[in-house]
Amino acid sequence: MKLIEQIYVDGAFATPHGSERFDLFNPATEEKIGEVRLGDAEDARAAIAAARRAFPAMRRTEPAERVSLLLALRDAVAARADALRAAMATEYGAPQSFLAFSVPHAAGVFEAAAKTVADYAFTRRIGNADVIMEPVGVAAAITPWNSNIGFICTKLATAIAAGTSIVIKPSEMSAIQTQTLLEALHEADLPPGVLNVVNGHGHVVGAELSRNPDIAKITFTGSTTTGRTILRTAAETFKRVTLELGGKGPQILLDDADLDRAIPHVLASAFRNSGQACIAGTRLLVSKRRYVEINTRLAEAVATLKVGPSSDPAADIGPMVSARQWERVQSYIRLGQQEGATLLVGGEGRPDGLERGWFVRPTVFTDVTNDMRIAREEIFGPVLSVVRYRDEDEAIAIANDTDYGLQSYVLGSDAEHMRAVARQLEAGRVVINEAPADARAPFGGFKHSGIGREFGPFGLEAFLEPKAIIG
Ligand code: NAD
Repeated sequence: MKLIEQIYVDGAFATPHGSERFDLFNPATEEKIGEVRLGDAEDARAAIAAARRAFPAMRRTEPAERVSLLLALRDAVAARADALRAAMATEYGAPQSFLAFSVPHAAGVFEAAAKTVADYAFTRRIGNADVIMEPVGVAAAITPWNSNIGFICTKLATAIAAGTSIVIKPSEMSAIQTQTLLEALHEADLPPGVLNVVNGHGHVVGAELSRNPDIAKITFTGSTTTGRTILRTAAETFKRVTLELGGKGPQILLDDADLDRAIPHVLASAFRNSGQACIAGTRLLVSKRRYVEINTRLAEAVATLKVGPSSDPAADIGPMVSARQWERVQSYIRLGQQEGATLLVGGEGRPDGLERGWFVRPTVFTDVTNDMRIAREEIFGPVLSVVRYRDEDEAIAIANDTDYGLQSYVLGSDAEHMRAVARQLEAGRVVINEAPADARAPFGGFKHSGIGREFGPFGLEAFLEPKAIIG
């Protein structure tokens, strides 16, 4: 049993004022594996005060000093890769494929931020003005459970790149991963107060960060509903806000696609991170002409996917993070059938052979129309909806007929043609044939998928204010 008794404030682990305990589980076994003592609003205020004290010195740092801090953080995270992987496996149940990506990614975001800082023009001349890009002020971050380590590292990296300090409230459900990461980050020897982390409930610690006038910038990753609440609260004090929210990503499978290559890409995008991914491509758009052939191939391919715990290297899909999330996915699988979609593969209940753990059956619905709730709402589990299109214009219209606009996918054989389709999609990112993303390319959503961008110069600028000195 892991007991997490402390938060991280002013460069040190500290016992919080809050005393509420929150249970932590292994989602593959449903066993309680730990408890975290949660911070409260008073702890949030103490962390904000520490970040405020650290801000003036951070603001004055030269880009080269920030690069050194970022590289020290990269090394600190890389040095604890095994412990981080173990924590993610136990508390989150991530499949090996996601672990193989996540931990190097978490270290890599610091290196990418260091490159961004090194290349960035913090001062430039525009006409008769000297334009100076200054850090916006003390930042706060609120993060979800589905990639806890990566989100904390991304937001911390950006704050340091910009020359500011930060208070982070991670998901209360990820406290073991947070603790393991903090032990790593502590080794980087940041100046006290630059990084502060307060475990706590969203409506307590998250709400304090959203409302506190000493926070100038808030960066949030999580659900669209929570994002809306934060945006409203933050408006009172005119905080700069970056919101990375939900998605219902379309995958347009063009008629010229080679299915031997495309079907694995389709499933990788749809079931990424066990389907618990904002960027998952959960609506597959297929032409009427190839509909039957593609459905046959999908059913065959999904039947070969293995669901299992993180400890099984052959498992493609892990458990849902919580009983609540499991129930939510089950309710959508029921809903799809009630709405008249056809269950091609999968369905309610646990996969055969798994009696315990919050495992779901990878599920594909066909005969889905884009007005069904399973095509419009984020399910956050391995559930794919296949929607038919008549021609490419209709495919693009269906792809864009959503409140979301985070990440879309185009699959086919003609690169120029796929780019032409991509240009017509309303999404912050369009991925062609599952190409890997550059670490400094902007990431974020159109429409209800969020506000602003992370990574690279766009992410950095979201933490900066331009100041023009004229004459
Ligand atoms: P969530 O919105 O429930 O919680 C996210 C964080 O917000 C948690 O730390 C939570 O404690 C906090 N929170 C909750 N209520 C709050 C409040 N009133 N004020 C301030 N903070 C509050 O989301 P989740 O269930 O943890 O994560 C899943 C969601 O995150 C999905 O909708 C998914 O699409 C989204 N997500 C988006 C991205 C992206 O980059 N766009 C990435 C991953 C996940």
